[in-house]
Amino acid sequence: MKKLIISIHLAFCIVQLSAQNHYARFKSIDVLHYIFEIHLNDSTDYIKGKANVLARFLQPANSIELDLVSFDSSSEKGMEVSSVEALRRISYYRHEKNKLNITFADSIMQNETVNIQISYSGIPNDGLIISTNKFGDRTFFGDNWPDRAHNWLPCVDHPSDKATVEFRVYAPERYQVISNGTQMEETNLENAYKLSRWQEMTPIATKLMVVGIARFAVLNNGNVNGTPVSTWVFPQNKNEGFTDYAVGREPIAYFSELIGPYSYEKLAHVQSKTRYGGMENASCIFYAERTVNGKNNNAGLIAHETTHQWFGNSVTEQNWHHIWLSEGFATYLTHFFMRNKFGDEVFKEGLASDRRRVIRYAERNFAPIIDTTVTNYSTLVNPNSYQKASWFLHMLNEELGDSLFLSGLRLYYLIYRDSTALTKDFQRVMETVSNRNLDSFFHEWLYQPGYPKIKTDWKRDKDKTITLNISQIQENYLFHFPLEIEFVTENGESFIRKFEMDDWKKAFSFKTVGKVSAIRLDPNVKLLFEEVH
Ligand SMILES: [Zn+2]
Repeated sequence: MKKLIISIHLAFCIVQLSAQNHYARFKSIDVLHYIFEIHLNDSTDYIKGKANVLARFLQPANSIELDLVSFDSSSEKGMEVSSVEALRRISYYRHEKNKLNITFADSIMQNETVNIQISYSGIPNDGLIISTNKFGDRTFFGDNWPDRAHNWLPCVDHPSDKATVEFRVYAPERYQVISNGTQMEETNLENAYKLSRWQEMTPIATKLMVVGIARFAVLNNGNVNGTPVSTWVFPQNKNEGFTDYAVGREPIAYFSELIGPYSYEKLAHVQSKTRYGGMENASCIFYAERTVNGKNNNAGLIAHETTHQWFGNSVTEQNWHHIWLSEGFATYLTHFFMRNKFGDEVFKEGLASDRRRVIRYAERNFAPIIDTTVTNYSTLVNPNSYQKASWFLHMLNEELGDSLFLSGLRLYYLIYRDSTALTKDFQRVMETVSNRNLDSFFHEWLYQPGYPKIKTDWKRDKDKTITLNISQIQENYLFHFPLEIEFVTENGESFIRKFEMDDWKKAFSFKTVGKVSAIRLDPNVKLLFEEVH
C-alpha cells in the first residue's frame, strides 16, 4: 500500500512537470469530441459527411484550423465543404491546401468551447479505403495511420490532440458496421439503409479512429476482465477466421495483468483491407485480409497489435519522431507474451532475429531511433522504430532488472494513460523508479546511430591466465555497455564473466580453473552488437 501512495505522489509530480504539450499543431485549440456522420452508398465511392467538432480554446483567438484534404480537380478526389455552422457567428471559412480555416466574428476567450458543424462530401483519396475484398465483396475500411484521417474526416490530424469520438454510419442495410468503442444504436431506415452509431468515450488519436463496413461473420469470444472480446471476419472465411483469431483473448488478459487495466470498452479483432499487416485502431484492431489462412499462426501479430492498446493508443507518442514509444514497446512486449506462451528459447530467438534485422537495416540507413530529419512519417515504419527500439528496452531491462523495469512500465502507464508522452517523460519515470541518472544510456542508444561492433582477441598462458582484449571498432559513436562472455574449457565446462566496456579498447586479465579452449560473446542475448572477426 505504501508503495502505491509513493507511486501516486510521484505520478502527480511528474504530471505537473510534463503537462505542457510541446508539439500541438494548432496551439490555440484542443479538440474534446468529434461526431462524424458518414453516408455511404453502393453505386459510387462518393461519401457525404457531417462533422461536429467540439474544441476548447487554449488561448484567446478568433479562428481555428482543421485538416481536411481539398478537392483535386485532376483526380476528382478529395473533399468539398458545403457549409460550416456554429452558435458563434462565423465571419468566413476558407478550405484550401488541405486546411479548413474558420474565422469567427469575435475573439473567443481562453477555455471557452466552440461546437462547429461542417458539411462536406467527395471521394476519399485515401484514409477510407473503399474497395472489394478477396471474395469480390464491396468493403469500406478506415486506415488512418499515420495522418491519413483528414482524407475523409475534418480533424486535427496529429497524435498530440486526442479526443473522444462518435461515428454515425448510414449504409446499405446488408452491411455490418464495426468501429471504436461501444455500439450505441442500430436502426433500420427507409430504402434498405441502416444507421449504426458507435461511441468511443476514451480520448484517442485520429490515427486510431476507424469504421469498418462490410459483410461480416461475428463471433463473441466472451469477456476478459469484464471487457468483451469479439472476432469479425468475412463470412466466406468464417471457419478459418474464428479459429485463426481465437488467440485474441490471450494478450488482453496477459497485458492487463502485466501493465495495468485495459483502457477501452471492448476489443474487436477484425479482418480488413488495411494496407498494414495489422493496424492497432483503438479497441478495434484491423488485420490484413490474408491473416485469415486457417494456419492459426497469428499469435505474434495479434499480441503486437493488442500491446498497442496500452502503448501507442492509451499512452500515445506526442509527436511522430517518438514513435518508438509505440512500436518499440509493442515489439518488445510481444516477446514477453511469446515467452510466457512458448518459453524462454522463443524469447531469445525473437531478440536474436530482431538484432539481425537492425544490423541489416543500419547498412542501408544509418540513423538513430529518434530521427528528427524524417518528414515522410510512413518511413518511420522501419527496424529502428521497431526492432532497435525493442532492443533498447531489452537492454534497459537488463540494466535495471525485471522488477524495476516492470515497475517503471506500470508507473509510466499509470501516469500517461489516455494521454500523450515524449521520450523524456519515459526517461524521467525510469530514473524515478531506479533512482539513477539514465542520460547517457538514453542518449547513446536512442539518439546515436549504430551499435557497438565488437572485436576480441584472447590468449591463455601456461598458468591458465586469460588475457582478453575487447575493442569497439565502429566509427565516431562510443557506447558504454556490459558484455557477457562465455568461456568454454577443454573438458566441456563453461563459465560466464561480465566485462564493463566504457572505452574504445580495454584489456582484461584473470585466472581460470580449467583450460579455456573457446569463447562465445553474449551467450544469453543481452546486448545489441555485431561481432567482427
Ligand atoms: Zn505496431
